Amino acid sequence: MRHIAIIGSGPAGYYTAEAALKQWGEDVKVDIFDRLPVPFGLIRTGVAPDHQSIKGVSRRYEQTALSDNVRFVGNVTIGQDVSIEELGGFYDAVVLATGAPRDRPLDLPGDRLGNVFGSAAFVGWYNGHPEFTSLAPDLSGETAVVIGMGNVALDVARILSKTRDEFAGSDIVAHALDALDVSKLRRIVILGRRGPHQIMMTPKELGELGHLSRGTPVVDPQDLPDGAEDALLEPGIRKSVSHLRAFAGNDAKGADIAIEFDFFAAPRALLGNGKVEAIEVERTRIEDGRAVGTGAFYELPASLVVSCIGYRTVPVPGVPFDERAGRFANDEGRILPGLYCVGWARRGPSGTIGTNRPDGFAIIEQIAADIGEGAGKAGRAGFDALAETRKLDVVTFRDWKRIEEAESARARSGAPREKFVDVADMIRARG
Ligand SMILES: Cc1cc2nc3c(=O)[nH]c(=O)nc-3n(C[C@H](O)[C@H](O)[C@H](O)COP(=O)(O)OP(=O)(O)OC[C@H]3O[C@@H](n4cnc5c(N)ncnc54)[C@H](O)[C@@H]3O)c2cc1C
Repeated sequence: MRHIAIIGSGPAGYYTAEAALKQWGEDVKVDIFDRLPVPFGLIRTGVAPDHQSIKGVSRRYEQTALSDNVRFVGNVTIGQDVSIEELGGFYDAVVLATGAPRDRPLDLPGDRLGNVFGSAAFVGWYNGHPEFTSLAPDLSGETAVVIGMGNVALDVARILSKTRDEFAGSDIVAHALDALDVSKLRRIVILGRRGPHQIMMTPKELGELGHLSRGTPVVDPQDLPDGAEDALLEPGIRKSVSHLRAFAGNDAKGADIAIEFDFFAAPRALLGNGKVEAIEVERTRIEDGRAVGTGAFYELPASLVVSCIGYRTVPVPGVPFDERAGRFANDEGRILPGLYCVGWARRGPSGTIGTNRPDGFAIIEQIAADIGEGAGKAGRAGFDALAETRKLDVVTFRDWKRIEEAESARARSGAPREKFVDVADMIRARG
């Protein structure tokens, strides 16, 4: 029998468990730990609440979760409640699938001003991550600036512009819906250092911006390269750029909320007195694919700033960490004998949910080569004994199903669920 501990119940964690079952069938026991009492990582707390079909992927993990050989061990923080070393004593392999839940810092003067948030915090707020429930962003100003040119920036801009009606069928949490209801934002600027040909936004998400009831996306036609140059682009980006070309025909005047793309614009400082009021921006030009400053500066008003410029993994005591890359130091997922990483914790914050699947299967192949038939360790029995002495309040998958039932029972009309946004409420809801 092999005993595997997976730390993190997001896509990477569940795909790794699925791969372990495929590899060993009945001859493996897998425990999936999570610091939250609820599973599925960013599927629950990252993927936008108005993208329910994407969130639905978690249903596919249930088949793995409900296997007799796989357990969910929620409400246990590894590195805090239990150490990596302790887990190594019980399991043949410990796999860190802890994601990259911290914002990459802006590192600009003024980035600590009020109403400046990273996207992990801001997205966590509207998606009900217990850590960010009390963020309380102030939406009473006129202009929000969203820094970044990827899909997370689009999510944030779209959510900020939507009406209550447009959230029908979504699971946006009540505190965010109520705050957005009284938002006074009239202008959302998406700020990017590079140009339209360098965006990381995908066509579907960009296309959505063109169908908002009060948000109108606008692009300055002068920012667009010559149309003939689009032919050289990879097809996905070419399609995205065709959306930007369509937005260049829009007029922001009269729009309830203008969503403006500001290309070739590098933020240099955040300005304000206690709270952010403006951003100092430098115009850039592209040289060898990189944005370089031109020396021309301007001030952009900003009552709210959300930076969407990437994420970092949180170090875990005893685990070698690559500070520069912001993830665990690893060689194709191997960290130390018996210790592995997978998903965003291995490769950083890139790719889609599906990208984590081959990752999970690859790490199980490596583990299979390393651990043979297992070393006769105690596995879950060893952990359970430790959990008992430490009085850990473990949440099981069955408990989660009760929490899930309670969330759907209290949903507003048409919504799939009203999430609990507080760990204590989640625990109470398990009954
Ligand atoms: C805002 C946003 C929107 C996105 N939208 C999409 C989308 O629409 N479509 C798409 O394909 N992809 C999307 N993605 C990407 C997708 O979410 C990721 O590819 C995927 O979630 C990464 O999986 P993971 O398992 O590595 O990490 P995560 O999903 O972050 O899971 C990590 C898990 O580890 C747990 N954990 C962390 N530390 C510990 C610890 N010390 N002890 C115990 N547990 C711990 C966390 O609680 C979490 O449950 C989005 C990402 C973001 C940030």
